[in-house]
Amino acid sequence: MRTFSNPSSSPPSATPPRTASSSVIDSRRSKHRLPNVPEGLFQCVTCEQWKPKEDFNVHNGSKTGRRSKCKVCRNTYKREWAAKRAEDRIPKTKACKECGETKPAQEFHRSRTSKDGLVSKCHGCSSAYYRKNYSGWSNDEVVEAFKAQDGKCAICETEMELDGPKSKKPRADHCHETGRKRALLCNHCNLALGHMKDDPTRLRKAAEFLEGFQA
Ligand SMILES: [Zn+2]
Ligand SMILES: [Zn+2]
Ligand SMILES: [Zn+2]
Ligand SMILES: [Zn+2]
Repeated sequence: MRTFSNPSSSPPSATPPRTASSSVIDSRRSKHRLPNVPEGLFQCVTCEQWKPKEDFNVHNGSKTGRRSKCKVCRNTYKREWAAKRAEDRIPKTKACKECGETKPAQEFHRSRTSKDGLVSKCHGCSSAYYRKNYSGWSNDEVVEAFKAQDGKCAICETEMELDGPKSKKPRADHCHETGRKRALLCNHCNLALGHMKDDPTRLRKAAEFLEGFQA
């Protein structure tokens, strides 16, 4: 779970203020309480499903000792909360690191890893960067692939940063014979493939070689 530090707002674990809706939930809960509920089942206040107590996180402050939302609903809630927080912290305008011009936020791609939620270079400048560093990949293709891979290297799953330092930026991998795009890789994995001549047999033998020296 990624968390954003912002002292001015409460973290997702904080108890929401008691409002009229919590009494609505209470009455709904009792109405839905079935006569033959097996021992040890709890009803989630969000999805209203009855689930075993392992499906609820431990919460010492509550009557049942468990969270009122099931783990699935709680994760959804946290994700939505984080997404909303990410939107809130985006400034209206930003100065591009490359051209120095102050431009509206729409001129910058979103970034999950940067402090203000935006990449450092404007569309125009980052397009130029991508053209130089991701031959065969368009700017949008890189961003798409990054999202699809959840920001992780397709081989070792190291977290990469679209807008991070050079060493953390994803490398756009392509087949040198056909030119076909493959996936985004971390710097190390991309270099390793190159050094091993993109040869699966060689890579497999290298793995066997290493394993041969393990206890
Ligand atoms: Zn639920
Ligand atoms: Zn710029
Ligand atoms: Zn990697
Ligand atoms: Zn060799």
